[in-house]
Amino acid sequence: MIKILLFVIVLASSCITFADSQLHGTFDGDKALAHINKQVSFGPRTLDNPKAKAETLSFIRDYLQPLATKLTVQPFSANGISGNNVWASFISPKPNTRNQRIMFGAHWDSRPISEQESDSSKQHLPTPGANDGGSGVAVLLELARIFAANPPPINVDLVFFDLEDMGNIDNLPFAIGARAFVKRNRFYRPSGGVIVDMVCDKNLTIPQELYSKTQATELVNKLWTIAARQKATVFSKTQGTYIQDDHLPFLEANIPVVDLIHYPFPDYWHTSEDTPDKCSSDSLRQVGNVLLSLVYESS
Ligand SMILES: [Zn+2]
Repeated sequence: MIKILLFVIVLASSCITFADSQLHGTFDGDKALAHINKQVSFGPRTLDNPKAKAETLSFIRDYLQPLATKLTVQPFSANGISGNNVWASFISPKPNTRNQRIMFGAHWDSRPISEQESDSSKQHLPTPGANDGGSGVAVLLELARIFAANPPPINVDLVFFDLEDMGNIDNLPFAIGARAFVKRNRFYRPSGGVIVDMVCDKNLTIPQELYSKTQATELVNKLWTIAARQKATVFSKTQGTYIQDDHLPFLEANIPVVDLIHYPFPDYWHTSEDTPDKCSSDSLRQVGNVLLSLVYESS
């Protein structure tokens, strides 16, 4: 009896996996990992490294250009500094009567200092930003490949925010680019959104970040339900903490945006050790596949 039951359970769960992959292509964690390596190879994506910023911006733009329905680079100035947000749209070929639109966002800058280094002589160094910055961009780029090959049933926007990680440097806030984006595009009202930040660690754990849980509850529940079904174990159904990230300007505008972020932060967070060897293609794949289901199961 136990054996039969076990067989039924195994069969049922493999059917679900099969159904998920039938809806769309699957997320390739190795491709995402390669996107992290590429970004890190340009060097720190910081204001004092304009060559790396220009190369990274070109890389993101050139990758998206043949894939997206529409691609826009929005330069902005705020808090005395300037940056560029990149916005790629994938417009569904299906009639979308409820006008559903979802946004996925990540920050493409990296932190110019390593204030969490225990050795004070290293604190002025920039972080390589493999996980913090690189991983979110990598997930979005791999999603773009799949959306282009399998047109989604709803409209999807991928937004790459600049200048997220300047917080507490020269009294600057976090999420400068995301705030500029919300301000500039005040008629942009997606049904919801997800920010991906620090999602490649080998021991990734994503609890329910508290601004998201309290202000985008429905979307949090939807994501964690998909994750449970997909056995995406990087999603932990535990309470996280309140984190300053690119979702906040959206929540302040009453747009439900969830922050998927590793917490407690890994020990190399905001240090010079945030390098690609900390990353796992499987963690990236789990996150990517949950986002794909969120899109392809909507209509
Ligand atoms: Zn950071």
